[in-house]
Amino acid sequence: MIPPFMKLVLDGLYPPICELCGCGLSEGKALCETCSEKLPRIVSPFCGTCGESFAGMIDGAFDCPNCKDISFHFEFALAAMDRCEETLELVHRLKYGKEIHLAGALGKLACGVFSDRRFAIALQEKWLLVPVPLHQSRLRKRHFNQAEEIAHAVAKCSELPMAKILKRVRRTETQTRLTRKQRMENLKKAFAVRTTWNKKIPAALTGAPGVILVDDVFTTGSTVDACAKVLRKAGVKRVAVITVLRG
Ligand SMILES: [Zn+2]
Ligand SMILES: [Zn+2]
Repeated sequence: MIPPFMKLVLDGLYPPICELCGCGLSEGKALCETCSEKLPRIVSPFCGTCGESFAGMIDGAFDCPNCKDISFHFEFALAAMDRCEETLELVHRLKYGKEIHLAGALGKLACGVFSDRRFAIALQEKWLLVPVPLHQSRLRKRHFNQAEEIAHAVAKCSELPMAKILKRVRRTETQTRLTRKQRMENLKKAFAVRTTWNKKIPAALTGAPGVILVDDVFTTGSTVDACAKVLRKAGVKRVAVITVLRG
């Protein structure tokens, strides 16, 4: 997170402009209204498990063909937006271009998922937001975890608590070229709960009525599923997932 005084300095040096079209902006925004409205929000109908959107009319809840044969360790995942040139550009600039200031705008967009009534209970009971962790070695290279930066912004707009409860204990290969089965193999024992000094599960987790995992992109769901598995094993009763994008 950028401290407020640094933000003031940076805004003075670089007056805010829309990150997509470059038009001038008022303070505290990263996207102009025109660009923001054009981004493809995921709206019904979408898969009740993985959030994949579908064209056309489908009545009631349904699972997509991909999810029919899978049982995930989370109840459902929902992304705020579909992938397109602009949304991918924003996520890539945050992740690989290290444009951390974009996390705020992306987190705010991710908060759009809370209009889904399945999240009403999470908002009411104050479920814990948990970002998908990066391995230490990757964190050293990138200097920040994009999921964590997004989760900070989601915490701000949803007023839900957030805690970095998970850690990545095994460095895994980049997953982009792997199939779902290979990804699952790759992720075996990759995550663990960050225990206290006396090896106890932290109170933030034992006291949480549920957890919402936060990540930048949901592709096959294998990463968040591996995280959800660890959380369920630690005693968490309910786990849902939110991401900025459906990959
Ligand atoms: Zn714009
Ligand atoms: Zn699905």
